[in-house]
Amino acid sequence: MNSDVIIIGAGPGGYETAVYAAKKGLSVTLFEQRKAGGTCLHEGCIPTKCLCRSAEIADTITDCDTWGFHVSAPTIDFRRIMERKNEVVAQLTSGIEFLLKHKLITYISERAELFDAHTVISESGEKYTAAHILIATGSTAKRPPIEGCDLPGVLTSTEMLDIDHIPQKLCIIGAGVIGLEFASIFRSFGSTVTMLEYAKEILPNFDSDISKRLKQVLSKRGIEFYNQAAVESIERSGAQLLVHYTHKGKECSTEADIVLIAVGRSPRVESIGLDNAGIRYSPKGIETDDTLRTNIPGIYAIGDVNGHCMLAHAASFQGRKVIDHILGIDNRIKLDIIPAAVFTRPEAGMVGLTEEECKQRGVPFTVKKTLFRANGKAISMGEPNGLCKLIADENGKIIGAHIFGAHAADLVQEVSALMNRETTVAQLKEMIHAHPTLSEILQECAREF
Ligand code: NAD
Repeated sequence: MNSDVIIIGAGPGGYETAVYAAKKGLSVTLFEQRKAGGTCLHEGCIPTKCLCRSAEIADTITDCDTWGFHVSAPTIDFRRIMERKNEVVAQLTSGIEFLLKHKLITYISERAELFDAHTVISESGEKYTAAHILIATGSTAKRPPIEGCDLPGVLTSTEMLDIDHIPQKLCIIGAGVIGLEFASIFRSFGSTVTMLEYAKEILPNFDSDISKRLKQVLSKRGIEFYNQAAVESIERSGAQLLVHYTHKGKECSTEADIVLIAVGRSPRVESIGLDNAGIRYSPKGIETDDTLRTNIPGIYAIGDVNGHCMLAHAASFQGRKVIDHILGIDNRIKLDIIPAAVFTRPEAGMVGLTEEECKQRGVPFTVKKTLFRANGKAISMGEPNGLCKLIADENGKIIGAHIFGAHAADLVQEVSALMNRETTVAQLKEMIHAHPTLSEILQECAREF
């Protein structure tokens, strides 16, 4: 069978690109070995956001006296929490299935791999050809070579989203985005949470002021952090797991009923026939250029599998870029302006360069900060703990924003839009922001320049 475009993998990269390509008049064959939606919908963004919402409600009920309500101690129905999460995932899955019913999309629920540089073969042995092939196979959770890592009860985020009880003691290895989100959620559900992180700071790639504040607030909520901790082994001890680690040269161990491994994700480059087509790749992902082209003409790699930026929105916009490139459409998608967020309580959000990156790259910059506690809306909401940092270059152009506090993930989007239009802090100062809103924090920050 022949189509204009073949896409392998129907995560946010694959399915959104398929729909976009079809709307532009291209015929698409889309392969998916599981349900459409990928990691984001089935074991990432969406299910965790459902749990985040339940965690937020748990915190609100716990603090209800502050808000003028007196209720007796709530009981948590974890089964209902997970049921609701599954309902949300099912609803969104059927939404995607509906979108894929486009007359130009042939959706094939099968595993597929490259047969050669022009052909894809499905699990059932059918061959498909297209002038353009997009690989969008995503990533899988890493399991480090630690003794005991495969014991029952040692889970990755995938299995963690299917547990049937709230762990009493949760030990999380890796204080990156995934580890921190789960720590925040399960702390709100009452788990004792211990985090073991190899690096000196938590949350790599985020501004260090933000990650320090986040650590402070999460520590106050009772989460225990051990940085510079090297996990040596995990063993079962009765009903518990014992995690052995060295912390600043000292041998230590901690008990847990569940251990979550959150030490990063690996691009899914195995078993997709990359060698059959002569595509260059490494464990870090498929090599691509700025237009997401691999070394083989006509074959592209988008999303987690190319290892550039493991975020759902990065994948879908990379796909859009590829389709526009194929069609010769001039597009100005700036793949270097990708907002990112951590959905802890409170949230952290970022876009653009950090101070550390400016220094490393020799970019002259000015940074200004404002605090949430000066903002009327934040105080009314009972969310005074937060920090906003704006970074501008020597001409005043905004080149980065780093926000910690309530709704940081949404707030950072305004800066992302401004950066796409190369806005300066002077221009931001003149843009009217509604009162009382959290967005005034950004304007206050601009006024500091
Ligand atoms: P990560 O790279 O963000 O963090 C992994 C952490 O594990 C790092 O801090 C690292 O130092 C630490 N680590 C590595 N090996 C270790 C070891 N042996 N012992 C202790 N610590 C160790 O990876 P992640 O949190 O697993 O997330 C994977 C990807 O998924 C990331 O690219 C992330 O951006 C993406 N993601 C994004 C979101 C979001 O946008 N909200 C949510 C979840 C995941």
